[in-house]
Amino acid sequence: SPLSNLAVRDVETLIHPYTNLAQHRETGPLVLERGQGIRVYDSNGKDYIEGLAGLWCTSLGYGNEELVEAAAAQMRKLSFTHIFGGKSHDPAIELAEKLKEIAPAEISKVFFTSSGSEANDTQVKLVWYYNNALGRPEKKKIIARQRGYHGVTIASASLTGLPANHGDFDLPIKNIMHTDCPHPYRGMEAGESEEDFSRRLAQNLEEMILREGPETVAAFIAEPVMGAGGVIIPPKGYFPAIQEVLRKYDVLMIDDEVICGFGRLGTMFGAQTLDIRPDTVSVAKALSSAYQPIGAVMVNEAVYQAMVEESRKLGTFGHGYTYSGHPVAAAVAIKTLEIYERENIVGQVAAKAPHFARRIQGFADHPLVGDARALGLIGALELVANKETKAGFTKPGVAAKLASLCEAEGLILRAIFGETLAICPPLIITEAEIDELADRLGRALDQCEAWVAA
Ligand code: PLP
Repeated sequence: SPLSNLAVRDVETLIHPYTNLAQHRETGPLVLERGQGIRVYDSNGKDYIEGLAGLWCTSLGYGNEELVEAAAAQMRKLSFTHIFGGKSHDPAIELAEKLKEIAPAEISKVFFTSSGSEANDTQVKLVWYYNNALGRPEKKKIIARQRGYHGVTIASASLTGLPANHGDFDLPIKNIMHTDCPHPYRGMEAGESEEDFSRRLAQNLEEMILREGPETVAAFIAEPVMGAGGVIIPPKGYFPAIQEVLRKYDVLMIDDEVICGFGRLGTMFGAQTLDIRPDTVSVAKALSSAYQPIGAVMVNEAVYQAMVEESRKLGTFGHGYTYSGHPVAAAVAIKTLEIYERENIVGQVAAKAPHFARRIQGFADHPLVGDARALGLIGALELVANKETKAGFTKPGVAAKLASLCEAEGLILRAIFGETLAICPPLIITEAEIDELADRLGRALDQCEAWVAA
């Protein structure tokens, strides 16, 4: 169909992130206009269930008046002040206090950013700063994982373990390397238990550390459940096995909670579901339910003390963003955390998770689905041409086709790495709405099967 006026103007003006720009010129965008609850509406008034919570972030859904009011009130009171050298404000202080209180580890201090990428970029700098302060400047390497996703700034994209983020960008930068992806469906060998698989991955990590030289390895970064790399739920015992190795070689554990933080897995942080003991933590996205762009890095006392000493020596801690601790973003985040607590959002996720898992895993029998996985309120369908061999399709873009068929059915989902369709609805979704989501997905899957066969 011909492009609408808005779509034409879009194609003439915008460069879209993460988009096949050539194809976009032909198809144009879906222009969304408003949202309410778990739904968004396009410019023709058609409704869509936002099955990916925007980009894994709109946990309280759309049209939350309390969040609107929190932003407006702060804008009226003090729309901006920075927190560089000697300035501060109430919302930044209160939010940092709250984060310390709920953090999944002994957190000493909080540093604010505007995004997950900035948070992880800050993590890289802090790891380097910390080891310089400790007088061991050779301890700089950071081990991330293949298919991990940590953002797109130069350092964060280097941590990310996906080909699209490296390729022509000449990344990763030096001192960043990638160990195995803990993907049971693809990685487990015949006869291997999940625990055996975890031990094997930990052993591979140890071999990498020994190969590189433990005196050069500073940190390990991981998402509890990998998001954009395929919604990969690690095998049983994975993080304890990995962390045993990290402790042995004095390697910091950076926990990237940008997707899992604030209830996604049915606990406040993914660390609590998957038994991670982080030294530092990155958060963003659901911190404000995406009503404002805000992220944070939380660090333990040892890292903080090193920063204090180093900044005394250098005259300043030379890192920070204009919008670090933005008062409006902080006020919205405070309100978001208050709502999570008051409405017992996290407990409700845990209560709804079995129903969500039943509906998602119900698709395992579909001819296109190789693996259907879910934990908390995040899940995925990994599509294969052959369920026995797990071989992929000769036709490219099957998951993308499925996402577009979902869209026609009134369901927004996203194809991610590895012919996988990600499902990550707002945390406020009800069981009846989970059914509606799954019914729309089921219809799209059947149409996709016909498309693959054609
Ligand atoms: N870390 C994780 C786990 C993410 O999923 C993302 C974004 O999807 C990021 C970091 C980067 O966050 P942002 O896109 O806000 O820069």
